[in-house]
Amino acid sequence: MTTTLPVDSLEADLLIVGAGGAGLVAALHAHEISAKLRIVIAVKGLLGQSGCTRMVQGGFNAVLDPSDSLERHFEDTVNGGAFLNNQVLAWKLVEEAPKRIIELENKVGCVFDRNPDGTIHQKPFAGQSFDRTVHRGDLTGIEIMSNLRDYILEADVRVLQECRGLDLLTTGNTVSGALFLDIRTGRSVAVRARATLLATGGFMLMPFGSTFTLNNLGISSDSLSFIYFVTGLCTLVTGPFVGRLSDRIGKYRLFCVGTALTIVMVLIYTRLGHTPLPVVILINVLLFVGVTSRMISASALISAVPDPAHRGSFMSVNSSLQQAAGGVGAAVAGLIVVQTASGALAHYELLGYVVVAAMVIVVVMLRGIDRMVAAGGK
Ligand SMILES: Cc1cc2nc3c(=O)[nH]c(=O)nc-3n(C[C@H](O)[C@H](O)[C@H](O)COP(=O)(O)OP(=O)(O)OC[C@H]3O[C@@H](n4cnc5c(N)ncnc54)[C@H](O)[C@@H]3O)c2cc1C
Repeated sequence: MTTTLPVDSLEADLLIVGAGGAGLVAALHAHEISAKLRIVIAVKGLLGQSGCTRMVQGGFNAVLDPSDSLERHFEDTVNGGAFLNNQVLAWKLVEEAPKRIIELENKVGCVFDRNPDGTIHQKPFAGQSFDRTVHRGDLTGIEIMSNLRDYILEADVRVLQECRGLDLLTTGNTVSGALFLDIRTGRSVAVRARATLLATGGFMLMPFGSTFTLNNLGISSDSLSFIYFVTGLCTLVTGPFVGRLSDRIGKYRLFCVGTALTIVMVLIYTRLGHTPLPVVILINVLLFVGVTSRMISASALISAVPDPAHRGSFMSVNSSLQQAAGGVGAAVAGLIVVQTASGALAHYELLGYVVVAAMVIVVVMLRGIDRMVAAGGK
């Protein structure tokens, strides 16, 4: 992309975008290969605080018991994924998991719950035919992320916190780093690297938002943080109002209203060309009001499905399914959207149609849940 703004620049051997479990373990392993490697981690939030890994409550599935087996764990994994998984990756996950548990305890300093005989306690968990979930109470993600963060702070790894990745830098056809917006200073930071690793979790429409805003909508990068600030502020203000409205008019009804608003805004947003800043802000605000209306009402409705006694495990399964859906969404989005030589995104409106179709399907599916909750059935 082209910009006339001042850009801070940085050189690295390895650039890691994202600092969840995947990003921090990648940094740890690269640092082990050679302490001389210049590693840069850039994360849009605070180190150790942002991303899904910190939210993990259930735990970490790994084969540790001799009466369990890698084959069985693999079978559970591909069955749970309805055979959509990349089986080579699923096997890698299963095969590596026991080594990662030992690494997290012996090297990183995590401590997982124990049986009376001192072995690691493994609990039953969704989709597993054997009790193989390693955990630290209900705070497994915090245990993992806090210790990984301390390990990374000790290592000679440069961390750019609150730096949002906007775009990849390329040299010819090769990725040669990434461009970030430093939220604290409002400056752009270009990191040139011999290798760039994206460890940013799952996504579909929104992660293209910054690139789309800069290159398609023609908004300058110093206005980006203002757009996010106003949008965030408006959703913060409207959130409690939406929650009360969902109790008053009905959760499913509000979900439908939120979906209708989101659909209209997605269809407008994904087809925009160069647009004045106030209009972009207005569209973003309406889009996010629609999105939060859907999220709040859907969460309220879905959490009424299980008995209170089973709510924890139900929500864990629900979160895992959301993550899996995020992964599928990311793969689909990556196949649809392409970046042209000018930096503008092409086929974003096509992605908009896919998102709209997915939202319509969810409206139909949630109708069944609404009926089930109304009937008091589980
Ligand atoms: C509530 C919840 C409970 C869960 N429970 C379990 C469980 O019990 N067991 C289990 O196995 N899995 C569970 N999961 C799934 C698991 O958390 C994820 O699969 C896993 O943490 C993903 O790790 P990650 O490092 O790929 O992504 P994340 O941990 O999400 O990290 C992504 C990182 O990328 C950064 N990032 C994103 N975009 C940008 C950008 N543009 N620029 C810079 N940085 C960026 C984020 O700030 C973050 O640091 C749960 C998920 C949730 C949400």
